[in-house]
Amino acid sequence: MRGAPLAERVREQVRADAAELGAIGLATVLVGDDPASHVYVSRKHEAAVADGLHSFDRRLPGDVSQAELLAVLDELNGSDEVDGILVQLQLPAQIDEEVVLRAVEPIKDVDGFHPFNAGRLYAGHPTFVPATPLGIMALLEEHGIALEGARAVVVGRSTIVGKPIAHLLLGANATVTICHSRTRDLAAETRAADVLVVGIGKAGLITVDMVKDGAAVVDVGITRTETGLAGDVAPEVAERAAFLTPVPGGVGPMTIAMLLRNTIQAARYRRNLLAFP
Ligand code: NAP
Repeated sequence: MRGAPLAERVREQVRADAAELGAIGLATVLVGDDPASHVYVSRKHEAAVADGLHSFDRRLPGDVSQAELLAVLDELNGSDEVDGILVQLQLPAQIDEEVVLRAVEPIKDVDGFHPFNAGRLYAGHPTFVPATPLGIMALLEEHGIALEGARAVVVGRSTIVGKPIAHLLLGANATVTICHSRTRDLAAETRAADVLVVGIGKAGLITVDMVKDGAAVVDVGITRTETGLAGDVAPEVAERAAFLTPVPGGVGPMTIAMLLRNTIQAARYRRNLLAFP
């Protein structure tokens, strides 16, 4: 399940929508100098600009105070040029992530991390949904993978990947199990999965003996190793699974495409072309 071809189609639509809607702004806020976060934010910018969006790039030093960060968000919330705002995680220790995510106006919350948007997903009425889980659902649909009544196992329970994808799978009528670091017999759980989504950040943790014949496997993990980027799923799983997303080139391109699509959705809300709940 390569991500790039579908991501390109999503982005073609983003370009068409951006041309039609005019002047759409995506603001990113990056705190500190974590190299991986810099790469992620730069990629989001390049993609936004390439697709005809205006990109506002706010970079703050690692020792910025919470009050200063909140003042930046205040300004972006109030700016008519900005349709979507995302705060790149992780944030330094002096900053309370929960307070910061709550400070983004829900109507501009293109990452879907504000409790309002997270709660809408939990309640079964998704508004803004985090981009990675949205990308996973689009990939599963693209490959015709049946979810109704299927046994779906999610490994990882973060608010960015595990919890939102579990809710989307549940919304699609899969029977969902969420596993994490305290799960007693992980292999027994994963072997039961028709659809297995893994987002933990441990290279190759899911081995071929942990996967059911013919399963659809989505590998969200990204770990930098000496030989390049590695996923959470060992490559040999491709021999047993019916579908497997590669790393890199699987979920990653879909995440960026869905972030841009969320920004178009934000622009529609702000222009009253869609009703924000
Ligand atoms: P995270 O917040 O660190 O969460 C990791 C989750 O994995 C936690 O729920 C943890 O369980 C669980 N876990 C860790 N070790 C485990 C083990 N041995 N067995 C079972 N569960 C285990 O990470 P995240 O933000 O969700 O990201 C996960 C991975 O996806 C990372 O590699 C990240 O780089 C990647 N990612 C990729 C994209 C993309 O676009 N491709 C987007 C987002 C993230 P506990 O809760 O019990 O600690």
